[in-house]
Amino acid sequence: MKVDAAIIGAGPAGLSAAIEIAKMGLSVAIVDEYYRSGGRLLGQLYEDPKQPSHSRLWDGRKIAEGLAAEARQYGVHILCGVTAWSASPSWQLHMSASGAGVGSVGSAGVGSVDGTGANGSAASTEASEHGLHRVTAKRLLLATGAAERAVPLPGWTLPGVVSVGAAQTFTNVHRVALGRRVLIVGIDPLSISVAMEMKHAGIDVVGMALPVRSSANGKISSPMDAIARLSAVSDLAPNPLLRFMGRMSAGRVERLAAHLLRGDFLRIAGIPVMVRKAVTSIKGTQGVEAVTLQSVTVDGTLVGYPETIEVDTVCLSGGLYPLADFAQTVGCPMIDIPELGGVVPLHGSDMSTPTVGLYVAGNITGIESAKVAMAQGRLAGVSIAHSLGRRPAMTIEQAAAAVTQARQESSFKFLPNIEQGRAKMMELWSEGNEIEGASAAWRT
Ligand SMILES: Cc1cc2nc3c(=O)[nH]c(=O)nc-3n(C[C@H](O)[C@H](O)[C@H](O)COP(=O)(O)OP(=O)(O)OC[C@H]3O[C@@H](n4cnc5c(N)ncnc54)[C@H](O)[C@@H]3O)c2cc1C
Repeated sequence: MKVDAAIIGAGPAGLSAAIEIAKMGLSVAIVDEYYRSGGRLLGQLYEDPKQPSHSRLWDGRKIAEGLAAEARQYGVHILCGVTAWSASPSWQLHMSASGAGVGSVGSAGVGSVDGTGANGSAASTEASEHGLHRVTAKRLLLATGAAERAVPLPGWTLPGVVSVGAAQTFTNVHRVALGRRVLIVGIDPLSISVAMEMKHAGIDVVGMALPVRSSANGKISSPMDAIARLSAVSDLAPNPLLRFMGRMSAGRVERLAAHLLRGDFLRIAGIPVMVRKAVTSIKGTQGVEAVTLQSVTVDGTLVGYPETIEVDTVCLSGGLYPLADFAQTVGCPMIDIPELGGVVPLHGSDMSTPTVGLYVAGNITGIESAKVAMAQGRLAGVSIAHSLGRRPAMTIEQAAAAVTQARQESSFKFLPNIEQGRAKMMELWSEGNEIEGASAAWRT
């Protein structure tokens, strides 16, 4: 199948881009390795205080279904259960059925057109009929999202230990209670949000604590950093102190934190957030039975004596990083910008990259909320339509302004210095712009 644009990732960024491109009468195919579209939106369910009171519930699953329905209306082909591994020049995608190993989706291929359910032969036939196993595109958009950082701790391989993202999926997507007494290791915007979601679901969240300091855990084990991350989620947290801190500048937050961090803990929605305790190990034989914790100094050094808390489930949260391997595989220049969450593809304000025909949008460019991902998707869609000679109603400048507005309206701020990260990227872009080697190799 030959299309004007292929998109990898059917999350909020990919779906929003697909709609903008298809609206202009261009053909679009979008692939996703999960069995249904929506990406990380599927697990999001919370009250958004920045919305008017009548529309405060942020129901990610409904938003995802709305986006997919709109995309289908414009004729977008959405293929789920298919992993894209790489692409050759002129953007021919190499794909395989998710979980089926490397190969090509085709004769023995699996995969499902979104909405047909799990992988299987019927779905395979449909995928083949659509010719989606051999996608060649004039433009390629990468909207592959983010991944969770691991939090290695003694006992972390025991049954009953899950990542906080998995906890969010169990709670909000599958509506399954992971355990009766849950402790969360890692204090950040995502873990706070998931803790509150689990509490609403009736699960006893006994507390949140830091992971013990180690070379792998780095900054996430520091009480000072935890406080700075908490102030970034102040709008979501029903805690007056955090809301107050959210309005302060970063430097003032740190000074206040130093004063506050004298051994006490905060409570958010009734959940003890133990910014001065670190989990040193998870205990159990067949599964999780308890955790051991110890007090830490402001810089994360262990002090005092260990204590034990009985729990049956532990959720680990180490933060998120952009899932950008695909961009690297196809030769896009990559830049490490810690303020954006790690290594990201070099890109301009219109979401194009120096690799001709390649665009990026959403969390692959830096960790932000779903609202920002959708706005970035629309921007990338408008840019791609422009590059193919169409004139969408929204200009690239208007679409870029909408990204800034979405950022301001977002209750979720995963990274405290995201604006600086974005500014750094724009500076690098204007310095380097076309990186000749990469552009030449992939020119269509
Ligand atoms: C665990 C977790 C929890 C989060 N919780 C929240 C939250 O509560 N609120 C919030 O605002 N933000 C949350 N986020 C941030 C979230 O990623 C963004 O809000 C938003 O979903 C990003 O949109 P996206 O389209 O860039 O990526 P995603 O929504 O992550 O979608 C990317 C899609 O790409 C697919 N994909 C990736 N690689 C491939 C490949 N090679 N081949 C085929 N398909 C591929 C994935 O299956 C996925 O469906 C969370 C992120 C994570 C990782």
